[in-house]
Parts: sequence; structure tokens; C-alpha cells
Amino acid sequence: MNVPKPPKKTFSRAQKIKKIAAAFETILQALGIDLTNPSVRDTPLRIAKMYVEELFRGLTQAFPRITTVKDDFYQKRQGMILVRNITLHSTCEHHFVPMVGVVHIAYLSNGEVLGLSKLNRIVDFYARRPQLQERLTTEIAEKIASLLNTEHVAVLVQAQHFCVMTRGVQDRSSDTITHYFLGRFQDDPELHREFLESALHHPQPHL
Ligand SMILES: [Zn+2]
Repeated sequence: MNVPKPPKKTFSRAQKIKKIAAAFETILQALGIDLTNPSVRDTPLRIAKMYVEELFRGLTQAFPRITTVKDDFYQKRQGMILVRNITLHSTCEHHFVPMVGVVHIAYLSNGEVLGLSKLNRIVDFYARRPQLQERLTTEIAEKIASLLNTEHVAVLVQAQHFCVMTRGVQDRSSDTITHYFLGRFQDDPELHREFLESALHHPQPHL
């Protein structure tokens, strides 16, 4: 039997901050931290604001207004449009610690292009919430395909996870690569390889 799910509760921004701050106070108390210490007194509220307004703002903000630009030269252009090393700041949904890295995005224009900074905004929108790297990669690729009306998109995410770096195996040198290829980036081995080579064979920025 299908039991209907109760409607999702939504809270105002102020309610969210209040609830999270109260919950964090409980966490700090359970850890035995003295909340009368002036240095940590405001920590619950500080964390609550950081969650709602910064780290997880992608959960509440509207998708950024992104308009595409007509691309008169797309039939003459050889190859892909590729933007590399877009900064990624996200949070691992399993451990609630940062995952940071870079995103490389390529697409074949179908008559429309995006302003280059718009790709950063798309990455940021999906990154600013508790995430899984695999899901993030797919969400970015599918959004770009639908905004640009093209089936040909490649996204590669290269990230370091603080849950791997600072706990568990405590490995600070490994990173994780996930990619998602659509259309010709999947079917055309030449284009596939060209993307991977251009995205990966270059000096990596310092994370
Ligand atoms: Zn994790």
C-alpha cells in the first residue's frame, strides 16, 4: 500500500537560522563545550547563518537568471568550447565537511552560447548544498544541455574531500575524478579524448 508522504515543511530564513542555532547549541553542549566562553558563545548562530546564507544557499535561492547568447559562428567553428578550472566549493552530504576542487566544462554549440561566468554560477548553484560529487557532475551537465539546447556536453569534476583528508584514512594527496559525457562527447572517441587531454593535461591549480 502506498502511504502518501506528509507535505514537506518549509521554514522562513529566520526560522531556519533559529532552529539550526538551537540544534548546534545542543551539539556543543553534548561535546562538553562551555557556551558561556565569549569565544564560542556566538558559534551556534554563526554556524546557522553560514549554513543558510553561504554553504547551503543553493537549497533556497532561485536558479540564477541565465540568458544564452546567439552564436552566429557555430557552424564554422571547429571543436568544443571548453572552460577549465572553475572553482568548486561544496559540502559532502555524508560527513558535512568541505569538498573543494575544480570543474571543467565543455560543450558543442547548437547556435547558442553562455557567457563564460555563467558556467561558474551554474557550478556554484549545485555546489552550495550537501552534495555527492557524482550527483553534482550529472546535475551540472544536464542543466547546461537543457539551457543550451545541445546534446553535446562534457563535465569533469576533480575534488578533494575533507572527509578523506582529515579523518578515516587521512589521505591528503588523493583526489577524486568524476565525469559525465553527453552526446558526441560520449559517442565520438576523438572528441572524448580531446576533452580529457585538454582538461587534465595541464598544470593543476593549487587547491
Ligand atoms: Zn564524506
